[in-house]
Amino acid sequence: MAIERTLSIIKPDAVAKNVIGKIVSRFEAAGLKIVAAKLVQLSQADAEQFYAVHKERPFFKDLVSFMISGPVFVQALEGEDAIAKNRDLMGATDPKKAAPGTIRADFADSIDANAVHGSDAAETAKVEIAFFFPELKAR
Ligand code: UDP
Repeated sequence: MAIERTLSIIKPDAVAKNVIGKIVSRFEAAGLKIVAAKLVQLSQADAEQFYAVHKERPFFKDLVSFMISGPVFVQALEGEDAIAKNRDLMGATDPKKAAPGTIRADFADSIDANAVHGSDAAETAKVEIAFFFPELKAR
């Protein structure tokens, strides 16, 4: 298994619930290391660019509004199989379908306010890490 880096975002709903620490603990317990982190307020342009891949989807406008509704906590995580491991910890996009014990099952309220984002592949991880942490190299 390769050492990878992935991008995680703790979304505005989870930041507002004051569960940043609880979510970060799960990454740490799973052996993922935080190699960069910051609390940021995204602008509309930031959110539109970050989610550009979804711009034709019906939920795009609401997704952008949600992502700028408050600060987000962004991290680059590193570890063995980090991309898939983070996706496993997150659980399914819709918290109603997320496995028990996953972050979304425990902290998300709905398919749109779903607590966390995680890169879905090596190529997206590279682009997403560069978007928030241009000084950091994806691996
Ligand atoms: N989303 C939404 N409605 C939907 C599907 C997705 O609001 O019907 C939002 C949700 O916040 C999700 C994000 O768009 O996390 C990106 O969707 P994707 O299918 O890439 O899910 P993810 O990779 O986040 O699990």
